Amino acid sequence: MRILLLGKNGQVGWALQRCLAPLGEVIALDRHSEGGDLADLDGLALTVATVRPDVIVNAAAYTAVDKAESEADACRAINTDAVAVLARAASPMGALLVHYSTDYVFNGSGDTPWLETDATGPLNVYGQSKLDGEKAIAFSGCTSLVFRTSWVYGLHGGNFAKTMLRLAQEREQLKVINDQCGAPTSAELIAHVTAQAIRATQGNVALRGLYHLAAAGETTWYGYAQRLIEQARVQHPDAPWKVQSIEPVPTSAFPTAAQRPHNSRLNTRKLQAAFGLTLPRWEEGVDGFAPLAMTKTSAP
Ligand code: NDP
Repeated sequence: MRILLLGKNGQVGWALQRCLAPLGEVIALDRHSEGGDLADLDGLALTVATVRPDVIVNAAAYTAVDKAESEADACRAINTDAVAVLARAASPMGALLVHYSTDYVFNGSGDTPWLETDATGPLNVYGQSKLDGEKAIAFSGCTSLVFRTSWVYGLHGGNFAKTMLRLAQEREQLKVINDQCGAPTSAELIAHVTAQAIRATQGNVALRGLYHLAAAGETTWYGYAQRLIEQARVQHPDAPWKVQSIEPVPTSAFPTAAQRPHNSRLNTRKLQAAFGLTLPRWEEGVDGFAPLAMTKTSAP
């Protein structure tokens, strides 16, 4: 199997490099590789035509959610236009397109986990651009797997978890949002599930489609930060911890350019049933991540 991986140096892209390797030959590109820049639509189409992959995995995305509010064109170019190019290129050659989307396609109302069939209603430019990317894939008719995920963290790249571990060593008091609910999901989990789903879909094309992929359970950013710091402190008691208290605050305490959904819960039953998976609880991933991330965030 020939796999074209785009965005190899993002959180998910990095984890995918390892998880996809056993499936076949992986041609992994980032924006600086020839033909790997999603902003160059002609170059991107040429890359697909030249590589002639069996599977395209697109882990590249414009993910700066607040910046997107003032850079809508740049955001749409990567998250919508480039995705449409990939879908159109995949279609005639029968390649499977694997793509990632987000809980931000929803408006965040209610408190039940979103189903794949629920009505969308993005609150910000990023969410709209990701939804339009999904629509472009559906419109092309190509064979695809689209995974909507949430609150991603990984060792490679910047994320909320790493920021919290750093701040816990710089400040005595932390304030963390306690009215947005979701499930922190590791890039490793996403990559493992992706590899398993590709394998299964190659043998049974009926499995193609849109799936919600997130760790089991739910928490808030506050609950996430508490668990993470608690675990890191247990594993690394000698690190220069400063934090004395973590205070729960509402979203309004941190005004941001982009509005964010309060309810980011994703119902993953469809994914688990289709691929015979049991997704681990978010605490498992965070507990394993905390000590590893400490090696990258500890003050010298
Ligand atoms: P990252 O921001 O870690 O990685 C995105 C990658 O895309 C980066 O390596 C970035 O490169 C690359 N990229 C950006 N612009 C271009 C371009 N023009 N050409 C080629 N590559 C480009 O994102 P994640 O790994 O966290 O996200 C993976 C997927 O999951 C994305 O589709 C995202 O929308 C989705 N998702 C992410 C969530 C999260 O919390 N992070 C939540 C829900 C969904 P560079 O570093 O050079 O900019």
